[in-house]
Amino acid sequence: MSAAPLKEGAVIGILGGGQMGRMLAVAASRLGLRVHVYDPAAHPPAGDVAWKTTQGDWDDRGALGAFADAVDVVTYEFENVPEPSLDAIEAAAPVFPPRRALAISQDRLTEKEFLTSLGLSIAPYKPVGAAGDIPSALAATGAPAILKTRRLGYDGKGQAPVAGAEGAKVAWAAIGAQPAVLEGRIAFDCEISVIAARGQGGATAAFEPGENLHREGILRTTKVPASVSADTAARAVQYAERILSALDYVGVIGVEFFVQDGALLVNEFAPRVHNSGHWTQNGALPDQFEAHIRAIAGWPLPPPRRIADVEMENLIGEDVDRAAEHAADPGTALHLYGKAETRPGRKMGHLNRVWPKGEAP
Ligand code: AMP
Repeated sequence: MSAAPLKEGAVIGILGGGQMGRMLAVAASRLGLRVHVYDPAAHPPAGDVAWKTTQGDWDDRGALGAFADAVDVVTYEFENVPEPSLDAIEAAAPVFPPRRALAISQDRLTEKEFLTSLGLSIAPYKPVGAAGDIPSALAATGAPAILKTRRLGYDGKGQAPVAGAEGAKVAWAAIGAQPAVLEGRIAFDCEISVIAARGQGGATAAFEPGENLHREGILRTTKVPASVSADTAARAVQYAERILSALDYVGVIGVEFFVQDGALLVNEFAPRVHNSGHWTQNGALPDQFEAHIRAIAGWPLPPPRRIADVEMENLIGEDVDRAAEHAADPGTALHLYGKAETRPGRKMGHLNRVWPKGEAP
């Protein structure tokens, strides 16, 4: 289903009210659009800046249906919205990105099969259904490897390292003994990601890749420009666009890659705005949030223009205690998510350190 271009005052429904929803709501409001957030929590971060918020559970078909009736288009800000929740919505409002993108990204095995079917390279992997499958899977992936749950993993959760067959039982228990994939550990030179958007007419618009640093499975920093060749950057964008067109996608996607000896292996994609695209808020026009809103609202989607060098740093857990200090840093944009409770590993905000293009130290 596709929608006519949304006019000022139209309402975008967002499933999930976390920081992504919050930043999407701010971008929508700049375009004269309104946002209605749906979230199980009473006071989600996006609720502070949304026009309306509905508190409802993911299986409350009545609440989901009423929400869909009250908006012009529906999007989602995190990929673990239960897919059946869309049943109650799709009858009343178009949903972007398409449901298939959500379904594929929710299951690592399906995602790997999909990426392979597009001719994209990925890390060697094997499905694992029991601890006893791990030794033979290791023979295919090589050691060391990483055991990852098929579903509901994020920020390094649901993952366990596997050094060799003797570690199979411990790793299986560590991920909660559930369907998984074993993945060979890639000795990558660096990690990059491409944030790209596709509009309702099929036009794509991609940001140049950012270079990502993770610690304990959590993204710490993203910098642009990435330290990869122009050819590698161009191929990464082409691969992201291949995924977009295969899914007949509408909206912003984040595609993560391992770079190894100039080769690009796709790690995973997220059918939404992405943490590694936060640099765009202070380094590109439009930024990723506006690009997503434009795509789902049926607006023009010009190629993004990078206007600065940026280093984005996540404020994770107690990092946020230094926010007041960072507020005094020159050339630094502070973005806080308004989360009441600080917890270890919780993303509380981020910083964008900005330099004129070509002048980052
Ligand atoms: P994921 O949640 O699968 O994106 O994993 C989070 C981070 O863990 C990645 O961005 C990498 O830094 C690291 N990682 C995950 N899988 C692999 C792998 N197969 N080889 C090397 N590093 C990995």
